[in-house]
Amino acid sequence: MTASRAWQRLLPRIEAIRHRLAALESDPSRRNSFVPYGVERDSPYVTVDGERYLMMSGYSYLGLSGDQRVVDGAKAALEQYGTGAHGVRALAGSLPVHEELEAEVARFNGRAAGAVFGSGYAANVGTIAALCGPGDTIVVDKYDHASIVDGCKLSGATINRFRHNDPEHLDLRLRSAPADGLRLVIVDSVYSMDGDIAPLPELRKVCDDHDALLMVDEAHALGVIGATGRGIEEHFGGGDLVDIKLGTLSKAVPSMGGWVAGPAQLIQHLRYHARPFLFSAALAPPQAGAALAALRVLAQEPWRVQFVQQQAARLRGLLNDAGMRTLASETAVIPLVAGSDQAAYDYATACRRHGVIGLPVVSPAVPNTLARLRIAVTARHSAEDIDRAGQAFLAAARECRLLPGG
Ligand code: PMP
Repeated sequence: MTASRAWQRLLPRIEAIRHRLAALESDPSRRNSFVPYGVERDSPYVTVDGERYLMMSGYSYLGLSGDQRVVDGAKAALEQYGTGAHGVRALAGSLPVHEELEAEVARFNGRAAGAVFGSGYAANVGTIAALCGPGDTIVVDKYDHASIVDGCKLSGATINRFRHNDPEHLDLRLRSAPADGLRLVIVDSVYSMDGDIAPLPELRKVCDDHDALLMVDEAHALGVIGATGRGIEEHFGGGDLVDIKLGTLSKAVPSMGGWVAGPAQLIQHLRYHARPFLFSAALAPPQAGAALAALRVLAQEPWRVQFVQQQAARLRGLLNDAGMRTLASETAVIPLVAGSDQAAYDYATACRRHGVIGLPVVSPAVPNTLARLRIAVTARHSAEDIDRAGQAFLAAARECRLLPGG
């Protein structure tokens, strides 16, 4: 890299990070990031360095990633429109497949309208910054996703955090919000590292008490909770409990992109004011075609949702019965707590020896006493896969002395 004076200002920062990474990478147990997995299209198995493993940390909750109907949806859009949308939606980039997808997003979520963005990250950042500004107050759960936090910062609004899943603390926070200005509360439906669910009815009540709008990120909820995978409202018995619904097209829906669903005026506002919608290229046609096909499969095959829920409950039961901690998980995401960061790396390595991949999540993403493997059950996992994974996680936990009496 050039050593000009301008670069000299940046290089020390890069060096500091490089040193930390070098320390990490010199320890084989910590080499978990950026590992290329050889994926088998119709199976939960992957290949790493020539060895085959059962993957237990993927995000394709419904196992639709290799589904022929979804692949065909991508192919049809590719054949019809080509590989790229060639522009932003407001100018040359809007295609019929985008509008069909937005209509499906709205229908699936029981809302008047929908908008799709280039990613879930862009949907969060763009929506929050388009709705709020200086003088407004946004209150977020302490465990909210980084894209929510970044959107809040970009908006220029006052940001407050409340304790995780604690409606009373939210109430306290809203009491101190200025009388004027918009109040927006944002939570994840399902927390991606803990697998627990936001207490929606209580949060709704607090929001109503304080004239606050409630926005919910369904990234890990769509296709995963509620009897038919409609997410957090369905989980709590239905009804319009959420003002602004938002999510990703990259997890249960195996494509790329983000979505927002809500009243028509809100969506119209976002189409003209959400900067990632206005200034970033539209979804590539195959991405939109795949997402559209996957949402249709999901609407037709609710058994997938119920299967994932049952399998996750079975795996949690198996692990908890043997004394393994899974925090407050009640969804397809199951954290296996190891303790320190090193303990999590060691546990991941032991799991691999038993033929199963569970990827470690360490500080600062989670508290450094609660480093863990983040496990996710998908509809691709058969009952035998779940048994096999459970036995492997427990055998590895015994070796790492993570079980009571161990
Ligand atoms: N929200 C949550 C809760 C997420 O977990 C993620 C992705 N990890 C996103 C938003 C961002 O979605 P995308 O990957 O589509 O940008």
